[in-house]
Amino acid sequence: MASKSTLAIAGGVPLVPRGTIHRWPPISELDHSYIRASLDGTDHSYGPNCRRFAEEFAAWNGNRLALHTNSGTAALHMCVAAVGCAVGDEVIVPAYSWSSSATAILHHSCIPVFVDIDWDTMNIDAAQLAAAITDKTKAILVVHLHGLSASMSEIKMIAKAHNLAIIEDACQSHGARHAGQHVGTLGDCAAFSFNQNKTLSSGEGGMFATDREDLFSTAQQLWSFGETCPPGAARDYHAVALGWMYRGSDLPAAFGRAQLTRLDRYIEVQRANAARLSRCLTGVPGLILPVEPQACLHTYSTYTIRLDMNALGRVEGARQYRDRFVAALSAEGLDSGVSQWQRFILPEMNVFRQQNAFGRGHPWSSPHARKVTYDAEHFPKARSHCDWSFGISTPLREPHTEDTAELIAECIVKVLHHLD
Ligand SMILES: *Cc1c(COP(=O)(O)O)cnc(C)c1O
Repeated sequence: MASKSTLAIAGGVPLVPRGTIHRWPPISELDHSYIRASLDGTDHSYGPNCRRFAEEFAAWNGNRLALHTNSGTAALHMCVAAVGCAVGDEVIVPAYSWSSSATAILHHSCIPVFVDIDWDTMNIDAAQLAAAITDKTKAILVVHLHGLSASMSEIKMIAKAHNLAIIEDACQSHGARHAGQHVGTLGDCAAFSFNQNKTLSSGEGGMFATDREDLFSTAQQLWSFGETCPPGAARDYHAVALGWMYRGSDLPAAFGRAQLTRLDRYIEVQRANAARLSRCLTGVPGLILPVEPQACLHTYSTYTIRLDMNALGRVEGARQYRDRFVAALSAEGLDSGVSQWQRFILPEMNVFRQQNAFGRGHPWSSPHARKVTYDAEHFPKARSHCDWSFGISTPLREPHTEDTAELIAECIVKVLHHLD
């Protein structure tokens, strides 16, 4: 007979009742009214909501300038172009991130150079970063993962010493802080994403943000067909440089503006729920909980747990064990809010390993490029992280409460005790 301790995946009763977990993002009357107003307007391409969204987001984040884009990846590519990277230049990037943190570098014919992560923060290891610098290095593309800022004090010192630009991939970390300052204001320029899964979402969309006028105008060139006009001048449709079409459009911008009014609240809820989950799980053997270093404010955009495979005696077959763990957790009623969003380290991905992004080996084959190798063995922490970790996002976000966090903790402990 199925007892209360029988896992739902084995036919037991799920711990989380149906209807407990809500979709993300929450939709309110404000979203409806902003979107209706956009529909009732006449400019549906880069319309008034796009301009307002860029201004409001920049003001919220503490940036002087921002440009609304159709994705975070577009904004990242604009960052790489803006800091003046050219064919064969190297850009340092963590070995563990979303693929486009590194493909945005390739899109500018530059060479990604990977650095392992710091085990505790899951962000780039600042100590190893310095060792990856060569005379080809142009920029450091730091990624603030899961809602936690990278170690920016050290990274800023390294960048200054070697005259390198800092690009911030803040796509997962709206509202995260380092030494009191928002991510996106800590380097030369930054990219944010408003994809549905992010803390600030508008379906799809992104933002390029900077305080530097010069970077802004270079980014703007790539953003809209390579055209540039002095402010206020009429568009003359002259492609003065190689551009792309990275502009956002009015409807998602309207959605994003309405969501932005609730972003502070979203972050408060995520932090409160994450704190409750941490209190419930502290001291449970077999789990490694996320940390919040002293200088940082973590938004817990994703609450990332590592299964301690050493303690669990599961170092062999760790990935399979983690996958079964996540499947069992989902079956308890947490659905898609529990997952491993990135299962591969970047240097293991074909696009980098093959070293042939554009055909004929470009950009690696360029006479301007130094030979690099992508040996997965150099990134042991990122690799273990890929096999040992899982993340919780939606169930810890608005409108969920600390009661939900307690329920999640119960699910985790139940699965931990009964998976075999
Ligand atoms: C989501 C994400 C991106 C890409 O953003 P899109 O809007 O999906 O293009 C880039 N980097 C990181 C770390 C992300 O999480």
